[in-house]
Amino acid sequence: MKKVTERGCNRCLKPGRSQIRTTIATHTHRMRLRRLVGMILALAAGLTGMLMMPIPAADTVAYARVKRPKSSSKAIKRATRKFFESRAVVAIVHRGESKQDMDDYAIDAQWGVRAYPAVKYRYIEKKKSPDLLEIHLYIRYLSYTGTGSVKDLSPTGNRAKAYRRGVERFFSGRTVSDGTKTFKLKVVWHSYAYRTRDAMADAQVFYEVAFGSGCPVDGSGCGSYRWYHAHSAGPLYGGTLVIPDAKQIGYGRAPVTGAKYQAMAAHETGHLLGLDDAYACVVNGHTVDRMAENSETCCKVAGQWLNLMATPFARDTQLLVNDVEMMLESESDAADGGAFMQSYRSVKQAGADTRISDAITDHTDKAHAAAAR
Ligand SMILES: [Zn+2]
Repeated sequence: MKKVTERGCNRCLKPGRSQIRTTIATHTHRMRLRRLVGMILALAAGLTGMLMMPIPAADTVAYARVKRPKSSSKAIKRATRKFFESRAVVAIVHRGESKQDMDDYAIDAQWGVRAYPAVKYRYIEKKKSPDLLEIHLYIRYLSYTGTGSVKDLSPTGNRAKAYRRGVERFFSGRTVSDGTKTFKLKVVWHSYAYRTRDAMADAQVFYEVAFGSGCPVDGSGCGSYRWYHAHSAGPLYGGTLVIPDAKQIGYGRAPVTGAKYQAMAAHETGHLLGLDDAYACVVNGHTVDRMAENSETCCKVAGQWLNLMATPFARDTQLLVNDVEMMLESESDAADGGAFMQSYRSVKQAGADTRISDAITDHTDKAHAAAAR
């Protein structure tokens, strides 16, 4: 089983290493049981599904993977068309074809199991308006009480709505472009609360958005959990985005509100979709730079290189075509049983060994080149 990776937003926290380690250990333990049960159910359902259900006709949906696309949305389209194979992560709806019902959309994961990932992509070709890339997110909203019990939360409640508004501000309605307008992004929400009504597959995986989760108010065993964070085992296994209550926020910080809250919701959702943190962090006493600043990976605003994963609370950040490519690359890698988290820079340092995402072609670091002059 895959290790649950932890991605806290530690920009403002910088907790000690041992502190993080303890937290991971205690939390993984809790996660593991639930994941294991989920996995067994998913496997069982997948195997049953394989025996019972015919594989969807290939002429309705093209399954595709993205490998080393150039930084343009046209390249995404080309690449997604080129790689026709059953492990694919993007459903392409060609002009004139009927729409694929994404609740029914599954991919062939490892061992031939039909899997229903917590995020699915659908690319719709349009004749006149720009093409559309839909990001289908399967979410289960949870509320934690002070006593540690959990209940499902309504997707129409204020907290769930505020979370979605934040994500949509950065992910929806945006025309992804590298200079030529080609396709728009749209988030389509699927809620666990409606799974019966919408007849989703039993094996459908959901990401959890957990309000009031993370740590007890007394701070015991909390570590980085006293701040907003997300951890994920990948789209085939699910993950959790934690939004602590105001009283749970630690480190003398106040809860973020307004535009900052929206950026936080989008940043943490970026983690669920496979994007790594890109801001500098301290590992073993050394500052580790996790972002190669250039025009492929960042947008430059007022002399600053910005990226949602590098500058979580910056209002001027926006989702770039490269981020989208990394998200697709992430799901593609996960479907192959590989690591799903995509990094913005290669970092080789004890405790933080990461390799730059295959989706990134430009590895130059313009911010540092300028600083060195
Ligand atoms: Zn983060």
